Amino acid sequence: MIAAQIKGIIDELPQGVQLVAVSKYHTVADIREAYNAGQRHFGENRVQELTAKQALLPTDIKWNFIGHLQTNKVKYIAPFVTLIHAVDSERLLQEIDRQAQRCGRTIDCLLQLHVAQEETKFGFSPQECLDMLAQGRWKELTHARICGLMGMATNTTDETRIRQDFHTIKQCFNQIQTEYFADSPYFSQISMGMSHDYSIALQEGTTIVRIGSKIFGA
Ligand SMILES: *Cc1c(COP(=O)(O)O)cnc(C)c1O
Repeated sequence: MIAAQIKGIIDELPQGVQLVAVSKYHTVADIREAYNAGQRHFGENRVQELTAKQALLPTDIKWNFIGHLQTNKVKYIAPFVTLIHAVDSERLLQEIDRQAQRCGRTIDCLLQLHVAQEETKFGFSPQECLDMLAQGRWKELTHARICGLMGMATNTTDETRIRQDFHTIKQCFNQIQTEYFADSPYFSQISMGMSHDYSIALQEGTTIVRIGSKIFGA
């Protein structure tokens, strides 16, 4: 079942688009099943759940942290995390840099954009994101690497609205890439699209889809 769902999704993804299997709330046995089907990128949104699972599962899994990350918890995932999707403040970026340096690694990060209509305290508005980049302090970071943007569309069944949100993220990505990362091929990732809206995200140029319930069930 899990294997068949993964295969079905992979078959729909264009070349170069990465599937992150969102395994939050699901068991180690479920993750193992996905792993045995060839899946390597998994996403979790709680530090404690992630570290507990990481300790029990194969070391070649690429763990993606997709939730809100508190600065005081970065240290627990810094030794092994592959990609932190939802960097929503410069302070968090600096802490990731500090902890990555302590571990002697570089940690890839995505800046989280808030474009959806829901109220949330997480994520930069496009303008806040541009302002932070314009200030330029991030250029001094040596071990946290900004590889792109992440975002969520408004939680609605209105496809036009969803498409518009993804489009805004993609436009912002293009602008930032041109202005700040034209010579940095690693700035190449857009993480958008979940179980119910990833088809639209694919049309709008996503490079990473984060899919949970469609693979593992509700
Ligand atoms: C849970 C979650 C997902 C996966 O959502 P599904 O609807 O289960 O596919 C993707 N992104 C984030 C940030 C999540 O918290």
